[in-house]
Amino acid sequence: MLAKTTVAVLGATGSIGRATLDVLESLGGPWRAVGLSAHSRLPELVELSQRFSPDWVVAACPESAGRFDFTSLPAGVKRLIGPEGLIALAELPEVDTVVAAVVGSAGLASSLAAARQGKRLALANKEALVVAGSLLTHALKRSGGELLPVDSEHSAIFQALQAGRSREVARVVLTASGGPFRTWTAGQIAKATVDDALAHPTWQMGRKITIDSATMMNKALEVIEARWLFDLPAEKIQVVVHPQSIIHSMVEFVDGSVVAQLSPPDMRLPIQYALTYPDRIPCPCPKMDWTGAMSWDLEPVDIERFPALSLGWEVAERGGSCGAVVNAANEAAVELFLQGEIKFPEIVAGCRRVLEH
Ligand code: NDP
Ligand code: MG
Repeated sequence: MLAKTTVAVLGATGSIGRATLDVLESLGGPWRAVGLSAHSRLPELVELSQRFSPDWVVAACPESAGRFDFTSLPAGVKRLIGPEGLIALAELPEVDTVVAAVVGSAGLASSLAAARQGKRLALANKEALVVAGSLLTHALKRSGGELLPVDSEHSAIFQALQAGRSREVARVVLTASGGPFRTWTAGQIAKATVDDALAHPTWQMGRKITIDSATMMNKALEVIEARWLFDLPAEKIQVVVHPQSIIHSMVEFVDGSVVAQLSPPDMRLPIQYALTYPDRIPCPCPKMDWTGAMSWDLEPVDIERFPALSLGWEVAERGGSCGAVVNAANEAAVELFLQGEIKFPEIVAGCRRVLEH
């Protein structure tokens, strides 16, 4: 198979977007970022354009673009404004791979556009699958496009699945760091502040997914993501808490053999694998140090303290529009929490109420 080396990075100014650009830089020629998108961090978009010389940039927020002076954008870089620009970038004929790293359902239309055009879709934007897993997977089937997971757990499962056949899978086990409140009591969690919730112990990520990790809604979204990525029923998807974030996830086969993927936590590894698959290429990420003693913990999940988790299995089982409903409620609730409008437990309680309604 020929390497797919021309890449559009949607959400280039974010945590996954920047990590993708680091990977492209380390891969070197012929790998290239053909297009970059930002929403409101336009000075950063210009800076990235100076460094990576894309052919296209997209400023997805028209209001921010209207206020911004683009004169320091390198000459010859073409500019698109507004959410339609994201779709146009994803559809460019010269783009082989679309890295979907926009946060939230705002990333759905461009992910779907890439899927319909038969691209390789390297998907970080899990919300797209949660909202429209059926649409997205059907579009890929029709177009012959590929869906490569960037989410570390799903990349681990994707890698472990190569040890057997899909009919031989007994279940997949997603690991969860447990977030900043893993050891907190329900009473303490009820009083958690925005700063408490943003202090993730193992991963540096954007604000929305960091709050999702604190509520463990992130793991619920990942259960739904796994349902669509691997075409598995909800009862074959399990979650276990693993605070060190070294074991990224596991697949248990029908004979009882469990295959896991491990590495120090660094998103550049799953991003690179999604770009270079089926090849493995040396990566700038830190490697495991097997010379010292170490121990890893595995704990059962606690649904009493983290009720978001039950929404994951429920939505994965019910399907239909449940994913879109819970995701929309969660995006709105996280925003309200970050603005200080609601208390931490209200995020998940609100999602539950909206789903019931
Ligand atoms: P960030 O908040 O760091 O970055 C989000 C990116 O999306 C930015 O480029 C931002 O632009 C852009 N963006 C925000 N809103 C819009 C919008 N309405 N329209 C178009 N673009 C928009 O998020 P992360 O990088 O942390 O996460 C991105 C996705 O990857 C999420 O779906 C997350 O769940 C998933 N993911 C992230 C992981 C991580 O380690 N960070 C791990 C696994 C999955 P700007 O900054 O210019 O406003
Ligand atoms: Mg993850």
